[in-house]
Amino acid sequence: MNLQETINSKTKQGALYEKIEGGKVRCLACGHGCVISDNSTGICKVRRNNQGILMVPNGYVSGLGIDPIEKKPFFHVLPCAKTLSFGMLGCNFKCAFCQNHITSQALRDPFCFSGIEEISSDEIAALAVKKNIPLIVSTYNEPLITTEWAVEIFSKAGEKGIRGAYVSNGYATAKVLDFIRPYVDFYKVDLKTFNPDNYKRICGGSLEIVKKTIEEIYKRGFWLEIVTLLIPGFNDSEQELKDIAEFICGVSADIPWHVTAFHPDYKMKRADFTSPSSILNAVDTGKKAGLNYVYAGNMGHSQFENTFCPGCKELLVERNGYFVEKFSVLVDAGGKGICPGCKRRIAGVWK
Ligand code: SF4
Repeated sequence: MNLQETINSKTKQGALYEKIEGGKVRCLACGHGCVISDNSTGICKVRRNNQGILMVPNGYVSGLGIDPIEKKPFFHVLPCAKTLSFGMLGCNFKCAFCQNHITSQALRDPFCFSGIEEISSDEIAALAVKKNIPLIVSTYNEPLITTEWAVEIFSKAGEKGIRGAYVSNGYATAKVLDFIRPYVDFYKVDLKTFNPDNYKRICGGSLEIVKKTIEEIYKRGFWLEIVTLLIPGFNDSEQELKDIAEFICGVSADIPWHVTAFHPDYKMKRADFTSPSSILNAVDTGKKAGLNYVYAGNMGHSQFENTFCPGCKELLVERNGYFVEKFSVLVDAGGKGICPGCKRRIAGVWK
């Protein structure tokens, strides 16, 4: 069996689809809304029409590991918490700069070799309980395309008080967001560029759908953080950064924006590394746009990975890479944060 055949065989009937004429189905799990003929897969290559029934991945992972929550990155959620992170195969995008292409592109690029390991949702939930891990994260590849599997895991883990999170490209539909909302508390979106042509050409998606998803995630009350991988010559112009920051700020000034440094990878091996000055310029642009929390990532230890009170500027969370060295946010019984200096509310889910 080749990899595609193996993936096709590890499936279960999905929930996020509708039957349409001629034995076709329309998938509702992501913004592509693929219309899939019998015996074919959608763009992601993991959801397949089998005689008018949409079959979706179930019962395996391509990777499973314990990561600090700061690595996702979530900086305003349960500081220092361990996460049980799992990844699958495939993606609904084809970003030329993908830093997880070995798994995300394994089904469409013969140079990306990956495998899977069978495991049940009960076993994943039990592992989180055994290791005393408060959060399971669907990450490493695009979680939206395997949503039913994530929800199966999260619903079992949720019975034990374990919460769920998505690390995603934000190419969702209202339907899938409503479907996951009871099981997912935390949602990280990669906002890759503010240039619609580049979104289409380099990633295979639509900027408008990602923007809409960000607004809808926020409206539904998920805790949301946004990451932009800063790629020289691709998305680092002053105007584009300003547009991104102003858009996020228009949704909420309290959404953390992580601007992270790129290293040449996949089909962008000839691009430059992001310079520290470029990252700091983006951080500055975010702050000038009015965002309360802007962070520099992949740049080495600096004050730009710390959280300061947006009011009195007191240092509240001091980080060194994935480690939290100081934490002085006052946390109330409901998990809301307060600055000990000026008593301003510090956005996040701190407990
Ligand atoms: S998840 Fe997206 S890419 Fe995959 S089949 Fe569904 S609509 Fe198509």
